[in-house]
Amino acid sequence: MVRVFYFYTMKDFIIVGAGLAGISFAETAFLNNRSFTVISDNSQNSSYVAAGLYNPIVLKRFSLPQDAAIHLDYMLPFYERIQHRLNIKIDYSLPVYRKFASVEEQNNWFQAADKPALEPFLFPEILHKDFSGLPAPFGFGKVLHTGYVDTVVLLRSYKEYLKSLDCFEEEKFNYSELIIEHDYVSYKGVQARHIIFAEGFGIHSNPYFKYLPLDGTKGELLVIKAPKLDLDVAVNASIFILPVGKDIYKVGATYEWYDKTPTPTQAGKMELIEKLNELITCDYEILDHLAGIRPTVKDRKPLIGTHPEYKRVHLLNGLGTRGVMLGPSMANELYYSIISGEPVRREVGLQRFKLS
Ligand SMILES: Cc1cc2nc3c(=O)[nH]c(=O)nc-3n(C[C@H](O)[C@H](O)[C@H](O)COP(=O)(O)OP(=O)(O)OC[C@H]3O[C@@H](n4cnc5c(N)ncnc54)[C@H](O)[C@@H]3O)c2cc1C
Repeated sequence: MVRVFYFYTMKDFIIVGAGLAGISFAETAFLNNRSFTVISDNSQNSSYVAAGLYNPIVLKRFSLPQDAAIHLDYMLPFYERIQHRLNIKIDYSLPVYRKFASVEEQNNWFQAADKPALEPFLFPEILHKDFSGLPAPFGFGKVLHTGYVDTVVLLRSYKEYLKSLDCFEEEKFNYSELIIEHDYVSYKGVQARHIIFAEGFGIHSNPYFKYLPLDGTKGELLVIKAPKLDLDVAVNASIFILPVGKDIYKVGATYEWYDKTPTPTQAGKMELIEKLNELITCDYEILDHLAGIRPTVKDRKPLIGTHPEYKRVHLLNGLGTRGVMLGPSMANELYYSIISGEPVRREVGLQRFKLS
């Protein structure tokens, strides 16, 4: 099908960033028959490093983030459509098993499973399953409606797809070359009605939005090969272990609030190895060690909306630790806000922070 990209000299959107946020907005624009160009470099790699897990429950606190069920319902068909159109496999439905360390933790699970909001997501029995290489004398609690998105396949394939439509530029966006007019923006000769910034932690170089309190949280992750570990579910304990096939597992992640460098560290590696050794009893080989900066905000909410002074300039950021689940619905909320002229909801909007 030939789409609108070629018919207008003025595009609807320039999108800066091709991580989960930028790709989600591009897909939303595509679904609404809007024209766009995506510009991205590889300066940030949070979306590539991500394990891609989606799980509506925050297991550490047994809480259900606001609208988690809505985000889940929205994201499943969203990724399914991409799978279908690009002929790729990215969404793997997979149970998450919470490993219990004590009777107290088992009791906490029962209490949580009784709460009406959590009940659809927590299986109300303790599972005693023997996974070879992972002893669990107190058993597991099973979270329902979980899985993971293979973000590497998603992002690489989507970029190739955009290139084939001639709407992807692999380069650093130079903010000083952006011209903002009343009714449109212009960048290196490309005119568009709106510009969407989706640079993740790269927001700190953006003169329009760097006033926002996006602190960023570094995360490190190991990729291991463990032929004697026989897991067909994701296990959550002090860290997670995610089976991705062929005896390969992703193991993560660390949370580091001070170091903002994107490189893996020895300390991060040791932390993961120590926690992994407490969890599994079999041998393993480390294949890779990755790091990225999650675009986290202090109040743990996304940051989306229109710049307070420039109505053509918009932001899609703050996806934090949950980019897979939040990306699609936040892109949709921002899209409809731009098209309708109505602000996004305050709890996710950048209007909750003052321009300074
Ligand atoms: C170790 C780790 C594990 C994680 N696990 C999960 C998980 O299991 N599930 C989950 O949902 N989330 C997970 N996350 C969080 C998830 O990665 C983020 O929520 C998500 O990737 C944020 O996407 P983003 O598009 O906003 O940012 P990014 O992925 O950082 O993308 C921003 C893009 O913009 C580009 N860019 C920036 N500045 C410029 C510029 N000036 N010019 C051009 N391009 C620019 C960058 O190069 C990049 O391509 C994890 C993160 C880490 C670090």
